[in-house]
Amino acid sequence: MKLLSSKERYRTKIFRVTHDKAVDPDGFTIERDIVRHSGSAVMLAVDSRRRILLVRQYRLPARANLWELPAGRLDSGEKPLDAAKRELREETGYTARRWEKLLEFYPSPGYVGEKMTVFLVRELTAGPSEQMDDERITMEWFPPGQLDRMIRRGEILDGKTIAGYLAWRQWKRG
Ligand SMILES: [Mg+2]
Repeated sequence: MKLLSSKERYRTKIFRVTHDKAVDPDGFTIERDIVRHSGSAVMLAVDSRRRILLVRQYRLPARANLWELPAGRLDSGEKPLDAAKRELREETGYTARRWEKLLEFYPSPGYVGEKMTVFLVRELTAGPSEQMDDERITMEWFPPGQLDRMIRRGEILDGKTIAGYLAWRQWKRG
């Protein structure tokens, strides 16, 4: 596909909306309003007892409190791994010695350009967190059996959490 035009329609601190047109050599065209986003890093932190760290916060789009893997937006030009280390420390206070890329995905590719990169994080050390003014976050460690049940019961509704956790369960068992 060849991009013919991309016009900004709206801009916020977190994302931009553009109206894009593209065409392929056969003349097939696509025209969409697109949420442009710098991408997110997602941290699947596992402690020495194989428990997973989740955070809970009120999510206005969902009109609900959600349990999620810690995550944050990439600053402009920032690499996913650097953002993951910064966001884990800011949001939860944890630093870690072992970082491994687990999964990359587009959570909603029909109209959102945001790509998510999930990192498996191990050998953690607790420290003070630096939450932003608009973040009010509680943290808790969950054993895998409990997370399996929460997903099956619909008690975890956040897509990056389900995808990252199930990838870890599938690929990193034992
Ligand atoms: Mg966050």
